[in-house]
Amino acid sequence: MTIEFTEAEKARLLEDVIAGRVPDERGRFGPFGGRYVPETLVPALERLTEGVHRYLKDPDFLARFHHELATWVGRPTALTHAPNLGRAWGAQVWFKREDLAHTGAHKINNAIGQALLAKMLGAKRVIAETGAGQHGVASAAACARLGLPCTVYMGAVDVERQAPNVDRMRRLGATVHAVQSGDRTLRSAIDEALREWVSDPEGTYYLLGSVVGPHPYPYLVREMHAVIGREAREQMLKAEGALPDAVFACVGGGSNAIGLFHPMVADRDVQLIGVEAGGSGMGLGEHSATLSRGRPGVLQGSYTLLLQDDDGQVQGTHSISAGLDYPGVGPEHALLQQIGRVRYVSASDTEALDALNECCALEGILPALETAHAFAGARAWARDNPGRRLLIGLSGRGDKDMPTLAKHPLEARDAAA
Ligand SMILES: *Cc1c(COP(=O)(O)O)cnc(C)c1O
Repeated sequence: MTIEFTEAEKARLLEDVIAGRVPDERGRFGPFGGRYVPETLVPALERLTEGVHRYLKDPDFLARFHHELATWVGRPTALTHAPNLGRAWGAQVWFKREDLAHTGAHKINNAIGQALLAKMLGAKRVIAETGAGQHGVASAAACARLGLPCTVYMGAVDVERQAPNVDRMRRLGATVHAVQSGDRTLRSAIDEALREWVSDPEGTYYLLGSVVGPHPYPYLVREMHAVIGREAREQMLKAEGALPDAVFACVGGGSNAIGLFHPMVADRDVQLIGVEAGGSGMGLGEHSATLSRGRPGVLQGSYTLLLQDDDGQVQGTHSISAGLDYPGVGPEHALLQQIGRVRYVSASDTEALDALNECCALEGILPALETAHAFAGARAWARDNPGRRLLIGLSGRGDKDMPTLAKHPLEARDAAA
């Protein structure tokens, strides 16, 4: 948005991304990312960065990680052909099925990977933040699996809104800490978890839930999820003998999208398209379309695009899907957008709901409301690009969304039948 690169700079930055030179040693994705934190947090982040460099290249660590992914998470997840949706859209449609992963979404890849890392680094306990509760549930499950005590920080407003997930976390052995400060939602939960980490940086491991925050998290979380895109790429080649023409994923913080996109960034003929929450409109506070509408600034330790007003105050956001309702976005997405490698569009609450209902009716799969935004973006693209091959990242299942869906009944359709 306000950062302008020459064509030569864009080409060089794309080469850097493809060659793995991004992020650099300071955690920079071009101008984005980095580490904007109080002095007190630096030693903890330094120690984590050292651990990341050591273990993410360690064959024993990777063997344990891949063993957990295979036997506990249920990887590789399926690649599913969707011929009925394809006929309706005039396209060939494929799904990468993260909804089939343990706990029902992609988040578990990152949770089990970082919990393993915590163990290697000698942490005595894990803390995590959660908004809607999905990352809290994944973290609680991963910590139970590895015998690590887990405390989940959650805004008091969210604790009330997401009671079933709070109960799930507790049954999985986690302590849920209701945060009463700030806006009492996800942002305050992250702030509180960071404060708690500072008070015991050696004994405590902070398990962050998306490709956001200070270095090394955007890199670390991307590496935990890149298995999605590596599998999908191989599965497409095996099933179709070709890569998709376009790949779609929903973008909140951006972790499922970067996991799917990253291994295909070098495949320049593959269009990569991220779909953000257009909410109820494009006015202030009505959406969460950070990449479409944001401007550069610092949020929670990272220089990235964010939704802010003219005075630099972070804006309120809205989306029908709690998992996309965040005013920032991972710095790697900001770079991929600015150099033109990934395009970002938005889908409204209504478009996501329509797409969710269509996927249920035609393919027998109930996607999460977050995921439904990717469907809506793909459907719109298919209208303008007939007969192409599409891959959609099916980030999670929608059973958790039944209370929201109950407010949008199918009466109209039933009446017509
Ligand atoms: C949390 C969540 C998202 C959004 O998070 P990202 O970091 O953007 O992937 C998307 N889909 C599902 C199913 C989720 O649970």
